[in-house]
Amino acid sequence: MERRCTLCRGSIDAGTERVLCQCGRLLHERCAAAHAEWCDADGTERWLGAVEL
Ligand SMILES: [Zn+2]
Ligand SMILES: [Zn+2]
Repeated sequence: MERRCTLCRGSIDAGTERVLCQCGRLLHERCAAAHAEWCDADGTERWLGAVEL
């Protein structure tokens, strides 16, 4: 099962440092910082946990 980084689209091997973001995307550890700038789970809008009114 090959996993790919959401940011750079590179394959993420078993030995690679990887981060599962709050939004559910899998990223390289170094790519996670850049992804955080446009991550839709880390901000005012939370699409998880915002169901309850
Ligand atoms: Zn990456
Ligand atoms: Zn994210």
